[in-house]
Amino acid sequence: MALYNERGVVLRTYRLGEADRIVVIFTEGHGKVRAVAKGVRRTKSRFGARLEPTSHVALLLYEGRELDVVTQAESIDHHPAVRADLSRLAKATAVVEAVDHVSQDREPDANLYRMVVGALRALEQRDSPLLVPAFYWKVLAAEGVAPMVDTCARCGATADLDLVAFDLGEGGALCRSCAPATSRGPGGGRDNRGGAPISGAALALLRRVLSGDLNAALAERAGPATHELHALATGAFEAHVERRLKAAAIHLDR
Ligand SMILES: [Zn+2]
Repeated sequence: MALYNERGVVLRTYRLGEADRIVVIFTEGHGKVRAVAKGVRRTKSRFGARLEPTSHVALLLYEGRELDVVTQAESIDHHPAVRADLSRLAKATAVVEAVDHVSQDREPDANLYRMVVGALRALEQRDSPLLVPAFYWKVLAAEGVAPMVDTCARCGATADLDLVAFDLGEGGALCRSCAPATSRGPGGGRDNRGGAPISGAALALLRRVLSGDLNAALAERAGPATHELHALATGAFEAHVERRLKAAAIHLDR
């Protein structure tokens, strides 16, 4: 059987029998890989705590027919500050869950790999309220669904003061006259046409995240605009994942 070296971030693990675990890893060169880590649940396991979700590890694996097998695992980044802080750990978990949703088995994605490693390292440096929303927006942009943030997605109006709503289904920001339903406010019925209201401050933050001014955006302190952007990003990301799942289901039906 073929042995191979890889670097990857552990997305999740689950039990296999008495002592083993299946580890789902997003690797640099092989995309998402499912591998068995034998004896990992014994106290004297040679893998120790290295193969935990959000760990960045160097691995030696051998290819199996269905599951690969981890034969060695060395820590690259163990993110001690993230592990010691529930707030950061929750963010790191959200990041790896997002990667799990958009990554494909055995399909490498170097850009996504760089993004997840970078996001976890940034989180190790500081607990930023915009880390998760910024990650979601970056992933969406990489998936080809970057929102329009400078003009109304429906009519093309460019006056900044007039961009008052946001609807990723429409393509991004919407102006006052294209978003009449927003006066109902968030949660105003299941019909979400017209999108959710967005403040000028949140829209400005979103522009910074999307334009690559990420470090400055990550230094932003928690406030109404960061909360708004978090809710907006979460909704957009969930809708995107749902669309993907539906598209995959249709594909399987054929
Ligand atoms: Zn408009």
